[in-house]
Amino acid sequence: MIPVVIIGGGASGLMLASLLPKKSAIVIESNPKVGAKLLVSGGGRCNVTNEVVSSDNYLGDKDFISSVLRQFDQNALLNWCDARGLGLISQKNHQYFCPNSAKEIVSILTKESSKQTVLLNEKVVSILSDKDGFLVQTNKQQIKSKSVVVASGGLSYPVLGASDIGYKLAQNVGHRISKLAPALVGFTLQKEQFFMKELSGSSVGNVEIKVGINSCKGDLLFAHKGISGPSVLNASLYWEKGSISIDFLPNFRWKSLSGSKKNISTLLPLPKRVMKALLEHLSIPDKPFVALSKEERDRLYELHNYTLAPAGTFGYSKAEVTKGGVSIDEIDVSSMMSKKIDSLYFIGEVLDVTGELGGYNLQWAFSSAFVCAKALNKYL
Ligand SMILES: Cc1cc2nc3c(=O)[nH]c(=O)nc-3n(C[C@H](O)[C@H](O)[C@H](O)COP(=O)(O)OP(=O)(O)OC[C@H]3O[C@@H](n4cnc5c(N)ncnc54)[C@H](O)[C@@H]3O)c2cc1C
Repeated sequence: MIPVVIIGGGASGLMLASLLPKKSAIVIESNPKVGAKLLVSGGGRCNVTNEVVSSDNYLGDKDFISSVLRQFDQNALLNWCDARGLGLISQKNHQYFCPNSAKEIVSILTKESSKQTVLLNEKVVSILSDKDGFLVQTNKQQIKSKSVVVASGGLSYPVLGASDIGYKLAQNVGHRISKLAPALVGFTLQKEQFFMKELSGSSVGNVEIKVGINSCKGDLLFAHKGISGPSVLNASLYWEKGSISIDFLPNFRWKSLSGSKKNISTLLPLPKRVMKALLEHLSIPDKPFVALSKEERDRLYELHNYTLAPAGTFGYSKAEVTKGGVSIDEIDVSSMMSKKIDSLYFIGEVLDVTGELGGYNLQWAFSSAFVCAKALNKYL
């Protein structure tokens, strides 16, 4: 009987495998290779973590998240990478990326986890537990183990191997799954905003999107299917249904326009193509600010608070993560073990913890793997 079976050779599963003693675990991965999602993450350079990480960057139970992050924070992760010759580079909004390619971190994780048996092209279909341990059923064989760690991730990007197995296994032993939805994903539009689709390929820097009490700043991208870009992806974390509002011009000083005779489309700091489409949509003639009527100016100020109700999201095929998941109240924070079934553990995205854009989801995958490894190493 093998001590540990790890379901999933993604970020959390590989980190866990690398932290356990040699030959103590079998990693089962349905893909022909490990780390498929890592390879495409961060635009192919993998945004591994962030300079600033706290529970505020996550949806989920704040105390639980803080406790896990504290045990293996961004500095511990940076040191772990450093010790293996991978100096991550801080870029953009304090995000740490691989210097050249995501292959760099995947090859380290692959090497580190090769001290375990890694089964590829093998899919876990069910697990049974009894007093001696677990019987893990794959599409090829049955494997007996003392412990099982579910590191099977969420539902997003099914082309990269995502499956619902983690949620099913959890549900079968009585765990609650909080509502699942695609997140860090673009919004599709209602008819009224279809004009935005015509802007496909254009982007606006530094907008501010409000979803309820949450505010998401960053670029907005007009896409063929709707709207996307960092501000929208973060907004999707908080959106369920209903309206969002976009400030296309945060910090803009209208007074700067009052003396000018130039048309507003030339003066407002938005790409001309975007500006013209917004003016047309809001029925505002493109003329100097001083020449606008009070009503026209009022409509122009709507650019600070443009309200729309997304039709939906681009869905799991385009979502970076799945929000919701295995409920945290039924997981022991010191070990990531199920409070319902002894020796069954959950780590990574399968749990009801979802990070913002910026390296937070991988940090969570690695931190939760570390906590689990610490607990397992006590008896291995
Ligand atoms: C396009 C994209 C870009 C992203 N970019 C970033 C980024 O830059 N920074 C960041 O922090 N996060 C990013 N993320 C999110 C991040 O990749 C995930 O949150 C993270 O990989 C989750 O780790 P995990 O180990 O829980 O799951 P995963 O890494 O998804 O690993 C789960 C593994 O389990 C396997 N599996 C599933 N079902 C079975 C089964 N039945 N049997 C065997 N194996 C199975 C899957 O094939 C997969 O390899 C991105 C996601 C996507 C899709």
